Amino acid sequence: MTVETPPVKRKRADKPEKIRCDACPVMCYIAEGRAGACDRYANEGGELVRLDPLTILENREDVALVPFLDREWDGDIVSGDEAFLTAVGSGTTYPDYKPAPFIVASTAADADMITVVTEGIFSYCGAKVKIDTDRHLGSECAWVRAEGEVIGHVTTSEYGSQMLSLGGVNHLTGGSKKEGRATCSALLALCNGESVALTIDNGVDLEITAGQAPIVNGQAEERMRVGCGSATVGMFAAQWQGLVDEVVVVDDHITGVMSEHQAGKVIGWKPTGIKIKGRRSTPGRYFQVAEPGTGWGGTDLSDPLAILDTFKPEAWPGLSILMVSTTGEHAAYYELNDDLVPVQKEMPARLLPSVQRIEENCEPSMASVLFMAGAGGSLRSGVTENPVSLTRSVQSRLTRVTCGGAPVMMWPGGGITFMSDVTQMPKNAFGYVPTPALVAPIEFTMSRADYQALGGHMDYVMPLEDALKGVHPRQSDHRLSGQRSESRKSGAPWPVGKEPLK
Ligand code: SF4
Repeated sequence: MTVETPPVKRKRADKPEKIRCDACPVMCYIAEGRAGACDRYANEGGELVRLDPLTILENREDVALVPFLDREWDGDIVSGDEAFLTAVGSGTTYPDYKPAPFIVASTAADADMITVVTEGIFSYCGAKVKIDTDRHLGSECAWVRAEGEVIGHVTTSEYGSQMLSLGGVNHLTGGSKKEGRATCSALLALCNGESVALTIDNGVDLEITAGQAPIVNGQAEERMRVGCGSATVGMFAAQWQGLVDEVVVVDDHITGVMSEHQAGKVIGWKPTGIKIKGRRSTPGRYFQVAEPGTGWGGTDLSDPLAILDTFKPEAWPGLSILMVSTTGEHAAYYELNDDLVPVQKEMPARLLPSVQRIEENCEPSMASVLFMAGAGGSLRSGVTENPVSLTRSVQSRLTRVTCGGAPVMMWPGGGITFMSDVTQMPKNAFGYVPTPALVAPIEFTMSRADYQALGGHMDYVMPLEDALKGVHPRQSDHRLSGQRSESRKSGAPWPVGKEPLK
């Protein structure tokens, strides 16, 4: 008789325990060998591990990225002038009832300094994107979409650039789940220097990568305009005198007409009897000559003659006209026939250098991405027991804020609202949590005396060299997976400078 042995029931207690991550409101239970929902933390042998290495900034330029633990730190006292502990990979102490993961002491320029280092979880954050182009990308307030979801809008046009406002709490949390996820993922990619495909309602398709040329409708933008049409007339008036009878610089905002413009008048430019369709602002400066578009000078024009009205009788047969865009990308030459109608002719060699001069004076087009966030919430408790004292210290410039060691522009007024250029930050400085929100590095640096005065967590201060040696801060309940060092960006200010600190 065969007696079958009943299958051994695995006892619940035999199962490896899941551990709970409390670094964000999602509160993942993470099984052994697995990562949490954000891929930032994992369970390694029952220990919570922050997966990205802690990034240390070294005060020298152009040094290749090296794994920090690959070389021996000799244990000497490290000055804050030499190394800076960024928050990239440091971890979070959500909801900040505990002190920040690292509070490090260093000496910089002979002053005793403290830097509080943490990865902030930002629901109130977004990106301001500046796109250097003359082309019309979309109307002001038009929706900007990623993966078909609205993640922001077109905002003001600036001098030679157009601006997008992306993200913000309303898109992250105020719409559908899909909208929040698409917003978070586009922001994450943009801030980490990856390229992101965007579409603008009733506008163009864009591909944006921070620090690189924007791609508009599949075409890489090359040049930022030299100035508006009026400015271009002013800049080159003397160079065109004697070479051509009339110059029209076509621009969606301000089209310039040489013979009428003050720049032409002061050097004695002869009237030509030209008439422009559009709204005359001041002599030689016209608004709304055409609809905005991706043609000549950011208008919808493919034929610039469309903006010329019939010439007045004072014009003469043979009158020569140069029409050019603000980047020099478009240029054409005309002469009036006996009926005073412009007829296109080959561009004379004498005018080519002036068109090239416009091109030469254009700067390369670039897409710039500034991360913008508000750090006025619970994150401050990781720095001090009295959160408003941090706000006041930042506002009075006693505390310097950096973002992964990169400088920030602090907004005046209430709160701690800042913007920072993502290309100045270490690689992959940003993460996310599925709430959804962005995780960004933030460091607060101040003198030791000021830190003490604002009610800082003095019992948790550790020397910088201990942090560099991998000593675990006692307030942190996660382990670090390693360290890496990165040299400071060329030309970037060192985060622990004297100014404007006392
Ligand atoms: S999403 Fe990430 S940070 Fe949030 S609880 Fe899960 S593992 Fe931790």
